[in-house]
Amino acid sequence: MSERVDTSCCVVGGGPAGMMLAFLLARAGVDVVVMEKHADFFRDFRGDTIHPSTLQLMYELGLLAQFLKLPHHKLHSVGARIGSEQVTIGDFSRLPVQCPYIAVMPQWDFLNFLAEQGKRYPTFKLMMQTEGTDLIEESGTVAGVRAKNPQGEFEVRAPLIVACDGRHSTMRARAGLAVENLGAPMDVLWFRLRHEPDDPEESLGFFGPGSILVTINRGDYWQCAYVIPKGSFDALRKQGLEEFRSRVVHIQPRFGDRISEIGDWDAVKLLEVRVDRLKRWHKPGLLLIGDAAHAMSPVGGVGVNLAVQDAVASANILTAPLLSGVVNESVLSRIQRRRELPVAITQRLQIAVQNRVIGQVLATRGELKPPMVLGLFNKFPMLRYIPGRIIGMGVRPEHVHTPAAV
Ligand SMILES: Cc1cc2nc3c(=O)[nH]c(=O)nc-3n(C[C@H](O)[C@H](O)[C@H](O)COP(=O)(O)OP(=O)(O)OC[C@H]3O[C@@H](n4cnc5c(N)ncnc54)[C@H](O)[C@@H]3O)c2cc1C
Repeated sequence: MSERVDTSCCVVGGGPAGMMLAFLLARAGVDVVVMEKHADFFRDFRGDTIHPSTLQLMYELGLLAQFLKLPHHKLHSVGARIGSEQVTIGDFSRLPVQCPYIAVMPQWDFLNFLAEQGKRYPTFKLMMQTEGTDLIEESGTVAGVRAKNPQGEFEVRAPLIVACDGRHSTMRARAGLAVENLGAPMDVLWFRLRHEPDDPEESLGFFGPGSILVTINRGDYWQCAYVIPKGSFDALRKQGLEEFRSRVVHIQPRFGDRISEIGDWDAVKLLEVRVDRLKRWHKPGLLLIGDAAHAMSPVGGVGVNLAVQDAVASANILTAPLLSGVVNESVLSRIQRRRELPVAITQRLQIAVQNRVIGQVLATRGELKPPMVLGLFNKFPMLRYIPGRIIGMGVRPEHVHTPAAV
């Protein structure tokens, strides 16, 4: 490996935002390097939901049929069991798109798919096991990224660096941009339990007094997310594994026959939830998108969708300037202006649900009843199309406007 790599655009982070952006830029003929610190995309936690709006983008790109060959299952609606009542919260079936459903598929399949598509273009370079460690700034402009891989340290130089390195973004910390912390009352415990042949297929949320469990069907196992009040993991650990197991079984008795699969605390991973947003998503030579610009709550499972939408908007706006070799800050500020409102509205809705539903459920000790508005959803099913639209398509969905160069 030489000590310096030159490119037109360096993307730091191979998550949904980074991989989609790198693929779209390469497809339009832009020379792009994307670095991902892990050796593969097979990591413990990844959001698994591919939304109707992302499936529509796949259709616009002519990739839908190929994409849907990957193993997935379809969610035509999303619901929850609250206390003893089951409610449907969002219905996607009437969305005016090719696929009016969420495709639940392991995110590593989605990212591998984007990587394979990117590799069809000669200007796409994916560097796995490569971590961006610092920004190179010259005369007040970001001119590159310092990186390391198993062979050693090197620099990537480019007229534009796009930080897509997620909610613990190193690039954001190095850039010193001001962050507004919007708060989250919960964290999530992440673990697996086997899926039995006679289990239901659907992924579902279970709400009980003081407890929330989300179960995601991943074929031969359930990926489980148990929601706890923020910062309470240590206290739960002190109460012991048996207490945790019995809480899970209490809210989903079906798991009684397999809860012993959680043999120790190593099988339970703490995922810290944070919701925040940069005041400014750019500085000369640097743009931040996805969770690096605005960490999303897991509420509604929309973070992957938002990251993809950021990538599409960025590719639409950046392609011509990158091909010409000049990307000034006014171009970068157009991207923030385009995406800030959809992100702010979505975060506001997530925070409302966090505070009015999740925070209250976690604090409830007695009987739990669905909030009145959800009762209305059962009475007037048409109302379910509203959250279906918000979750499925997001606010102001993006469309691909970049041409394919080859
Ligand atoms: C508990 C929890 C559950 C969630 N569930 C869902 C869900 O079901 N559906 C959904 O849509 N959203 C969900 N989200 C939100 C979603 O995970 C994020 O919004 C989404 O992943 C953001 O995508 P991204 O590409 O911006 O960042 P990320 O997905 O975080 O990707 C960042 C990438 O950058 C890499 N990276 C990090 N630092 C560096 C570095 N220095 N150098 C190189 N590479 C680096 C990382 O390895 C990673 O691959 C959830 C969030 C949480 C906290």
